[in-house]
Amino acid sequence: MVNNNVKKIVVSVVSTACLCLLLLLVAVQHHGVQVDEGANGEDAGMRAPDAEPGSAPVKRGFSAYLTKLTRGRRDVEKPLRSSAAAADPQPAEDISADDIFIAVKTTKKFHQSRLNLLLDTWISRSMQQTYVFTDGEDEELKKKIGSHAVNTNCSAAHSRQALSCKMAVEYDKFIESGKKWFCHVDDDNYVNVPTLVKFLSQYPHTQDMYLGKPSLDRPIEATERLGDNKMKPVNFWFATGGAGFCVSRGLALKMSPWASGGHFMNTAEKIRLPDDCTIGYIIESVLGVPLTRSNLFHSHLENLQLVSRSEMHKQITLSYGMFENKSNIINLKGAFPVEEDPSRFKSVHCVLYPDTPWCPPQVAF
Ligand code: UDP
Ligand code: MN
Repeated sequence: MVNNNVKKIVVSVVSTACLCLLLLLVAVQHHGVQVDEGANGEDAGMRAPDAEPGSAPVKRGFSAYLTKLTRGRRDVEKPLRSSAAAADPQPAEDISADDIFIAVKTTKKFHQSRLNLLLDTWISRSMQQTYVFTDGEDEELKKKIGSHAVNTNCSAAHSRQALSCKMAVEYDKFIESGKKWFCHVDDDNYVNVPTLVKFLSQYPHTQDMYLGKPSLDRPIEATERLGDNKMKPVNFWFATGGAGFCVSRGLALKMSPWASGGHFMNTAEKIRLPDDCTIGYIIESVLGVPLTRSNLFHSHLENLQLVSRSEMHKQITLSYGMFENKSNIINLKGAFPVEEDPSRFKSVHCVLYPDTPWCPPQVAF
């Protein structure tokens, strides 16, 4: 009798324990699924939407490129995609700033008004990685950065040919450098180099990687000149040069037949589009490698007010400019008033590097 009771108690304790264990397992599994879903959602959020079906085709040629300002406004209405996925990237490779070649495109007339601001801010912290591509001799610039000031001897005009001429020299210098990543920016870009390093370390430099942000919401439609007066329509995405973009060494080497030496200028002439479009053409149309979008690159073709203050340090590039006669700058109270720091780059720099001697001791933002 006593024995029977003991047996019953043992059976009921064991079955309760089993039930608890089962419930615990179910709860853990359920939690795991939720985490996965969250991660996937963020990942999907990093991608820009494809062109709406049935939308009107993009106007052809150079005029299409210029009308991107209007499209920039459309970008404004799109919410900024979460950069949470990039905040904690899985490194594919352990790279450092020394593995990146950053090319800054400028022109002599902007050395004072634009380039000096970059030299005083982000370039001052990344001298070894940064090369300035310009079109005239400047002794002051040489004193500051020596051989990192590259006189391309290209024309100082803002023409398609002159800009492609500079991009061709940037490409050749990168190949010569032996570095793992080529990144191009304009002289109205602030580059957050530590964030760029973290971002690029997610991708292997030996694979085909083309990273940046398109300024159009659909592929550009161009016409390739084949010779004998024959034309062929081509559609491709390109990363806007004004937001900055990066190309892995693996891919850059494959681009060589269309990009090295004088080939880049010839390729640009074939499609009659500016330098950044030509890069997109070579990569997407010729080599069939798709652009990987990131919303962490910013040009002044988008509403920079939408860059959130709390996510400022996660952005890879920033810019400033005019949009419909109004200044288009990031919204940052920062260390300096707008009159003293119209681009906001000095204020950004003081947030990222508060130990800079010319930054006020306490930065409120
Ligand atoms: N630029 C140049 N030559 C010129 C004018 C501009 O190389 O004659 C460069 C300029 O330094 C910048 C880029 O081209 O890096 C884009 O110029 P800008 O910002 O004035 O024009 P956007 O295309 O952004 O409106
Ligand atoms: Mn610009």
